[in-house]
Amino acid sequence: MSGPSLKDRAADAGRVLADRVAWRVPGQPIRAVADPATMARTFTYLFGIGATLLLVTLALPHSVDRNTAGLIATALAAYLAAGGFLVLFDRLPLWFFEASPLLGTVLVSLGTYFGGSDATSAYAMYYFWVGIAACYFLRPAVAAIQLALASAGYGIVLIALGDVTVPALKWAVATGTLFAVGILITALRSQMERMLTELGAAARTDSLTGLANRRELEERFVGELERSTRGGRPLAIVVLDLDWFKEFNDRFGHAAGDRALVQLAEGLRRATRTSDVVARLGGEEFAVLAPETDELEGYQLAERLRAEVRATFARQPEKMTVSCGVASFPVHGITTGELLHSADRALYEAKEAGRDRSVVYRHAGVPEEDAETAAIERTSPRLASLVSLAEAVDRRKGSPGNSRRVARYAEQLARSLSLPEEEVERVRIAALLRDVGEVGVAESILNKPAPVSDEEWRELERHPEIGARIVGAAQLGRVGEWILSHHERPDGSGYPRGLREHQIPLEGRIVAVADAFAAMTADRPYRRRFSPKRAKAELQARAGSQFDHDVVQAFLSLNGELESDAERGTPAPSAGA
Ligand code: GH3
Ligand code: MG
Ligand code: MG
Repeated sequence: MSGPSLKDRAADAGRVLADRVAWRVPGQPIRAVADPATMARTFTYLFGIGATLLLVTLALPHSVDRNTAGLIATALAAYLAAGGFLVLFDRLPLWFFEASPLLGTVLVSLGTYFGGSDATSAYAMYYFWVGIAACYFLRPAVAAIQLALASAGYGIVLIALGDVTVPALKWAVATGTLFAVGILITALRSQMERMLTELGAAARTDSLTGLANRRELEERFVGELERSTRGGRPLAIVVLDLDWFKEFNDRFGHAAGDRALVQLAEGLRRATRTSDVVARLGGEEFAVLAPETDELEGYQLAERLRAEVRATFARQPEKMTVSCGVASFPVHGITTGELLHSADRALYEAKEAGRDRSVVYRHAGVPEEDAETAAIERTSPRLASLVSLAEAVDRRKGSPGNSRRVARYAEQLARSLSLPEEEVERVRIAALLRDVGEVGVAESILNKPAPVSDEEWRELERHPEIGARIVGAAQLGRVGEWILSHHERPDGSGYPRGLREHQIPLEGRIVAVADAFAAMTADRPYRRRFSPKRAKAELQARAGSQFDHDVVQAFLSLNGELESDAERGTPAPSAGA
């Protein structure tokens, strides 16, 4: 489906109209039908025309007690008011406009008084100008007060003139008419406001799903990004695209496709918070803007949305899946354009990797996985998602690519310890995912530029268990168990279970050594990195207590590739790993 529909175009036009006519204070309902500039222009006309008409009446047959000088003075005062509105234009505050009809009432009352006792009905017509303008431009309550003041003004003039015939009759009919006109204008105005509100809403809403449309998302995005930038808070954007939707349409028809889009929209709404903006970007592409959400939470959100979509279509013959791309401020971009682009890139990667998965945007320049690795990760969407999560954890700790490094060491170690090739691959994955549990650890602890406190340490120590739980759901065999044990120590001083020696799975001991070497040879927030030589000496010194003796020996006898790797050094892995 290409190009905006007629309905969308009408909504766009309505929105432009609504913006132009309705004077909206952001976050508040419409306060006045017109903006200050329009009101000022209108008042300029009213006072100017009123004054001119007053001067014209001077040439006509008139009441014997007319005060010509008074009328001229009144006309001049009205011209002055017109000039004031013309010059000050849009610099006048709202209260000034709300008070302006009273200025009109005073001038009209003076004109009626100076016009003389036989011309009161004629000049009293001017009160309707005041009433109409007040009811059209101002809030009903303020307009009602202005009507009452106009009515009172006419009453005072009639009393002041003294010898007016049937003054009560004149006053009663004028006042009644004034309020009748006021009611009509108010009805007209509220109808207009309702229409403007509806048009404005329509212009921001996708007509099929009722979600926000692309334009609304972009506007909200700008606002949220400003807020995040000011407050130094994260903000995530998830872009979703239905998988194989063209095929779905071809098989089940466009009407079924549309119904699916509506169901999907409902699912997305269910799975998000009210503070999130859920939008249909167009076609079968959706987006969720999530304030206060960093890249990891963004990833979790994407996975939740993906699960919701699955659940939504689970009971239907036609299955439906989505691919999600995640980007977050500030790590993946600092403008809405950059962030949307990043999320789109991640979505593209999710599609490329086989669909039905979430991918967090990855900066170019981060060590790329080799082709073989990619192939294995591609076979399991769940695993690909976990790897993406591990990489996001690395980036959050300021050490992009660190897990890949640990995985390479662990892989070489496992091979040199003669584990079967299939086992080697599992060890590599365990090393890669060993710290995904840190997704549950506060960022402030991970990035602490000083050693952590006892309490913080306890929180950090939970990451093997959280990681094992996350990975356990992915059907990766015993990988979860190895992750659980990668901080155990042969002397029993490790965590979380305090296992000893061979109670610790060999694979866990391998990951521990690979992890430690990578950590020692990278800069930390609170110390410079060790040289590979010093790191090896450290491993040697702790072999048998902190590290497994045999694994350390195997590591020390690995070839020179480690050296060059460590020399390259990646900055700052976590304080705990
Ligand atoms: P994939 O995204 O997994 O690569 O495959 P896809 O088939 O979804 O790819 P593509 O983005 O090329 O196709 C989008 C299809 O979505 C084209 C069109 O048939 C369908 N589509 C777009 N908008 C609508 C809509 O409003 N209603 C319906 N029923 N279908 C739509
Ligand atoms: Mg598409
Ligand atoms: Mg698609």
